[in-house]
Amino acid sequence: MLRLAALASLVLVTALMPVRAAQPPDRIFVNARVWTADPATPAAEAFAISGGRFVAVGTNGAVRALAGSHTAIVDLQGRRVVPGFNDAHWHLPARRSARLDNAGSVGVIQQRLVDYARTIPWTDWVVGRGWTPTDFPDRTAHRRYLDAVLPDRPVVIRDRDGHQALANTRALAVAGIDRDTPDPPDGHVERDANGEPTGLLKEAAASLVTGLLPPLTTDDTYQLLLAELAAAASYGLTSLQDATDVGLTDNERSALMRAAAEGKLLVHYRASVPLEKDATPEQLDRFVAMRDASRGQLLYYGFAKGMLDGTVDARTAFMLEPYVGGGTGLPMWSQADLDRTVAAYDRAGLQVQLHAIGDGAIRQALDAYEHAAKINGPRDRRHRVEHVEVPAIADLPRFRQLGVIASTQAIFATPDPSTLENYAPLVGPERASRAQPFRLFDDAGALQAFGSDYPVYPMDPLLGIYTAITRQTRDGTPEDGWFPANRISVEAALLHYTRDAAYASFDELDKGTISVGKVADFVVLSRDILAETPQRLLDTKVLLTVMSGRETFRDTRLADGSEIEPAGE
Ligand SMILES: [Zn+2]
Repeated sequence: MLRLAALASLVLVTALMPVRAAQPPDRIFVNARVWTADPATPAAEAFAISGGRFVAVGTNGAVRALAGSHTAIVDLQGRRVVPGFNDAHWHLPARRSARLDNAGSVGVIQQRLVDYARTIPWTDWVVGRGWTPTDFPDRTAHRRYLDAVLPDRPVVIRDRDGHQALANTRALAVAGIDRDTPDPPDGHVERDANGEPTGLLKEAAASLVTGLLPPLTTDDTYQLLLAELAAAASYGLTSLQDATDVGLTDNERSALMRAAAEGKLLVHYRASVPLEKDATPEQLDRFVAMRDASRGQLLYYGFAKGMLDGTVDARTAFMLEPYVGGGTGLPMWSQADLDRTVAAYDRAGLQVQLHAIGDGAIRQALDAYEHAAKINGPRDRRHRVEHVEVPAIADLPRFRQLGVIASTQAIFATPDPSTLENYAPLVGPERASRAQPFRLFDDAGALQAFGSDYPVYPMDPLLGIYTAITRQTRDGTPEDGWFPANRISVEAALLHYTRDAAYASFDELDKGTISVGKVADFVVLSRDILAETPQRLLDTKVLLTVMSGRETFRDTRLADGSEIEPAGE
């Protein structure tokens, strides 16, 4: 419930008013520029909340008139308010690590690792993630760059896509990796001209080192979760849809349950169950029971997640035609197995989400969904394709026809060196032109839900929106954007991050828009992102995040600039 003490800095005066017949709202927010995502009332100046839900949305005058003696009134001074952001594809990281995203140079990677290492004196190991080869001179990662700053502690940093890791000399020694170490199955220990390991460990070879990391205790996982939830709230996220494909670990499940019990779950958290080949009826019953028992709670189970292919960068995404250089990727399922398994989950009433990146895997997913609908009959199923990066043009209309959701990640369209120098050349110009096709999905009438794929990419929705509307890097390159025909408007991107993401988890009646009756999830922004240039969007900050009427994040600047007035004037 609402704690008024938390609002003390905002509430200077609450005037006494005569008691009214109807229960006055707990809080009223006025002088805002509200973008509601609700086509019935797209814009408003004010809204009121009670018991964690919106009870009024309208003009300043109309909403103010509802105030009672205990109603707190918050003047938002003309700031932009949008519905709380909903990340439709998010993962709880396995462990704490230094974030190396967008480092751009070895110097930045070194600095971030040193800074991070200082914060974890109780453990030897320093773990990081998020680098790309282009961060290194000659695009060649080498242990010497880590040895230079952290020679005495074992260091291992994963690349952005999780297909390779770089270890320092100390970590190699701890793992016993030297010039005589053979390559493990499905992995490769990179060596220099003299046969010495460079520290770069590809695919399964990475686990020679990462397998030695000390296991997390239950409390480690709990602290990790709390830190991630606080970060999510600071980015304006009020809902997270966890897309793990193996189900939560016992530690993660108990951490989430503990957070919920202790009132520390700062978001609506939708967890997944695994999509298992030929799951037994008992398994399916258990998944259905988990979903039904958690319905309407902050921590709830929804979909079953499965993987159909890998990634373009690793040439494991399953394509209909060969990559430039050969190979069509690695499909993980036969169509017959997939059809049978999806149909069984579908018959049990479970929502399915399939990771499919290449046009071949995307077609497999659509075929399986079509097959399930054919044999199980019509129903509102909302099965999803996750990432859906390079769809065949011919398959675009099938999303709408089948009611299948395109779960896309705007930030994947960032035209950084990895995209321009590896991804695009691998698929070639025709397929690159339909990669991350946000506009094509919208034009085809597909329901598109935005997510980040955190921790692979940063979770900041404003960065995702920036990328969706510009298809540029943060530096504004290339000038017109990467395949600019697939840019979309700020409004469209906002809808995908709010209302559409709620629809993608069957929650559209309860959240996703600022409408009377829905849970009060909203964000106050430092700038009006609907009126600013795209570049200014990158400087925009979340000032206040409210989830189900509860304040989950506040930037100190909001308190500084706010002015509170007497109620009911
Ligand atoms: Zn993912």
